[in-house]
Amino acid sequence: MANKRDYYEVLGVSKTATADEIKSAYRKLAMKYHPDRNPGDKAAEEKFKEAAEAYDVLHDAEKRQRYDQFGHQAFEGGAGGYGPGGMNMDDIFSMFGDLFGGRGGRGGFSGFGDFFGGGQGRPDPNAPERGDDMTFRLDIDFDEAIFGSERTLELTLPAQCEECHGTGAAPGSKRVACKTCGGRGVIMGGGGFLRIQQTCPHCGGEGTVIEKPCRKCRGSGHTERPQKIEIKIPAGVDDGSRLRLAGKGAGGLRGGPNGDLYVLLSVRKSEIFVRDGLELGVDIPVSPFVAALGGTVEVPTPEGAAQLKIPPGTPNGKLFRLRGKGVPSLRGGPAGDLTARIVVEVPANLDRRQRERFEELQRTLGAGNFPAAQALAQRAKTFFAHKEKLRK
Ligand SMILES: [Zn+2]
Ligand SMILES: [Zn+2]
Repeated sequence: MANKRDYYEVLGVSKTATADEIKSAYRKLAMKYHPDRNPGDKAAEEKFKEAAEAYDVLHDAEKRQRYDQFGHQAFEGGAGGYGPGGMNMDDIFSMFGDLFGGRGGRGGFSGFGDFFGGGQGRPDPNAPERGDDMTFRLDIDFDEAIFGSERTLELTLPAQCEECHGTGAAPGSKRVACKTCGGRGVIMGGGGFLRIQQTCPHCGGEGTVIEKPCRKCRGSGHTERPQKIEIKIPAGVDDGSRLRLAGKGAGGLRGGPNGDLYVLLSVRKSEIFVRDGLELGVDIPVSPFVAALGGTVEVPTPEGAAQLKIPPGTPNGKLFRLRGKGVPSLRGGPAGDLTARIVVEVPANLDRRQRERFEELQRTLGAGNFPAAQALAQRAKTFFAHKEKLRK
């Protein structure tokens, strides 16, 4: 995936390109590298596929936001990802059908008719249109993810223009046939013997234009509207969890319904716990005395401090499992566990007297007090003896 080109670069548009600019850039590339025009040219076919994939992502508001945030990683693995092979040719040609509409077949080149076509399949410009789905990335704290929380999102989303109800037309004005193309959506271009159909630049292929654009939205049908949206983050969400708020996305056009709003959660790391799904882990520093003599240690859990009894002779790195003290399950199942790992902490900042006591203690200890060190010494001795024998 690392060698994949940037989608904006593929289409030769800027990061702020409008939907129309993206569509137009893709149309040019698709025409240049169309297999009908480049028979047997593998390089052209690759370019053709690359452009289709870039367009597929950038023309979809939600996919484009994900791509802007995460790059190609946004689509790696999981459903809908572009794994090896990416889109197949059937997908691409079916996308053409949706994009350029029609089965007019009147193009100058065989096969081009489908996407420069006469326009019978063109969507009705007066039909209601559903708004785009939008994605909003929200950073939340570790404890919010575990206990759940309520947040108010303040965002500005395209909403259906109240003035024209999303038609883009000024009051009393309506859609009329485009004069440039006579309502066909296409014009004849090129010169000499090469005459091809092109999408009408005046109406963008729709065949109709607004007589007098709405002043408030300048004919787009949308206005930017700041909104406050209350959301409830359920307990147990994880980094990458996505909440769907139906009907809270971009406004529709001409009375069409709103799209959905997706809130993509990004959970900040905890300074105490490490999390893996429902499981939590925490390191518990323990003095050599408690580790040797046994005792009770305090373990932080999301619910508060828990007391953990450790037996005499507890080795460094020993794991203790605290059942149900992990993350609550989003789906109502049992909570995960919390694993406490004992980390023996060597005392620091000894004063003279403490040092003497340590030395005194040291003199009383023998090899038998350190069985691991003793075992290693024994194995090493055997190993060296064996080595000597081989050398002779
Ligand atoms: Zn308007
Ligand atoms: Zn036109």
